[in-house]
Amino acid sequence: MLQLILNSENFVDKCAILDKGVAFRYADLHSKSAQIASKLLNGEADLQQKRVAFMVSPGFDYVAFQWGIWRAGGVAVPLCITYPLPSLKYVIEDTGAEIVIAGPEYVDILIPLVHANTFKFYTIADFSANELSEFNLPEISTDRNAMILYTSGTTSLPKGVVTSHANLEAQISTLVKAWHWTSADHTVCVLPLHHVHGIINVISCALWAGATVEFLEGFSPEKVFGAFAFGKINVFMAVPTIYFKLITYWDNLPDTEKAEITENLQKFRLMVSGSAALPVSVMEKWQEISGHTLLERYGMTEIGMGISNPYEGERKAGYIGKPLPGVSVRLIDEYGVIEKEEVPGEIQIKGANVFKEYWGKAEATEKAFTEDGWFKTGDVAVVENGYYRILGRDSVDIIKSGGYKISALEIEEVLRKHPQLNDCAVVGIPDDEWGELVVASIVVRNKALDLKQLNEWMRGMIPAYKTPRKYLIVEELPRNAMGKVTKNDVKELFKNI
Ligand code: ATP
Ligand code: MG
Repeated sequence: MLQLILNSENFVDKCAILDKGVAFRYADLHSKSAQIASKLLNGEADLQQKRVAFMVSPGFDYVAFQWGIWRAGGVAVPLCITYPLPSLKYVIEDTGAEIVIAGPEYVDILIPLVHANTFKFYTIADFSANELSEFNLPEISTDRNAMILYTSGTTSLPKGVVTSHANLEAQISTLVKAWHWTSADHTVCVLPLHHVHGIINVISCALWAGATVEFLEGFSPEKVFGAFAFGKINVFMAVPTIYFKLITYWDNLPDTEKAEITENLQKFRLMVSGSAALPVSVMEKWQEISGHTLLERYGMTEIGMGISNPYEGERKAGYIGKPLPGVSVRLIDEYGVIEKEEVPGEIQIKGANVFKEYWGKAEATEKAFTEDGWFKTGDVAVVENGYYRILGRDSVDIIKSGGYKISALEIEEVLRKHPQLNDCAVVGIPDDEWGELVVASIVVRNKALDLKQLNEWMRGMIPAYKTPRKYLIVEELPRNAMGKVTKNDVKELFKNI
């Protein structure tokens, strides 16, 4: 049996999942997932890597279906519950899903696809009766495909990333060790479950270790702080935009409530940020509120987690840390492998954690690997005093202007220091003279902000060639379901001015 599921036999009576106040034991997860697997098998001995897409809200059912699909020998394809129909259609068709399962809230949205009749359709209600026993479940070898997750679609159309059970086990076991997960832990999941961050770092690590995962009824800063107050939560993982929202909410509270939250945060042993660059200002403010130094790490759908600040030891603001055990990392520039510190290059990764292929995209897969098997992340970083610092994505964050390579992330860090700015995104737009021109879209606290003054202020902070040539004030930055700024959309905004 798969290691994650095998592990659960050590914790039968422990609470695995607290789903909107209802407790489910590991034994419940074990038996429900076996029941689901039996039903999916429908008399067959093995699903033989059929793709099974499922659209289920975060909670006990979600995990039971994910495990059930794995236990039947299927490939789990979690659907984003907030996607509109065309995006769902894209994933279902792209994976060639043979089976689709819908939670009650999602039946209506999927119905138009059901009518096309290309897959077998189940609702959760179809799995309520007790079917076959788990003794009939197939033995799953770990080199089989386990899951297809779609990349966040930050830079282009999302790609289906195929991981084997061995890949997932490597990703999970590495993190459990590095971040000291134990069965005494209790976490709350506020992340979407169609993405590696929520699936691997939060629920799978917690369940591997015998810990408890709590699910809330939707996300709001109030609910999260409420859960922190009443629960036994001691581990928390989120993306930078969530920390930003929590901070903004906290800022507007009366002092007594602020003090109470600060007090509740003292019981945490670990708080992690990732999926996008963590602004130093957010890290510092969170430290002020919680007394906790956020652990920033770097990962991708294709690799799980690759580079992380240490659990013990210094967590450096603005840095993603050092390669995780078992993950080989190198930096490459046009001259080859970089041996020295302070020379920027593309991050390349090798290890048991690295995905198998992009589903149905042989050419993209081939392009993504070097001849000697290193995965080319497309992210540029530099090592300083042993710690990696991300400069951004080669395709959108590394701006090539007047012969210079300029990191958009570095400029954003400086812009964020301006007291009148709430948020910003720096991009390069095509320019005949410079190749690309540095420009910034900004979210301001006060509409009366004088852009000339902002420009002068920036010139006092960074060299002239790095200062944005144009500023565009926007209400909000364009973001995807993971809360990441979609920079190609930001570039579009500049086309009209
Ligand atoms: P797509 O590949 O479809 O454009 P995506 O790359 O955003 O979308 P994910 O796999 O969710 O899809 O995200 C991985 C990317 O997120 C990394 O390649 C990197 O650019 C970014 N990232 C992750 N963690 C960090 C971090 N700590 N700091 C900066 N960037 C990060
Ligand atoms: Mg990507």
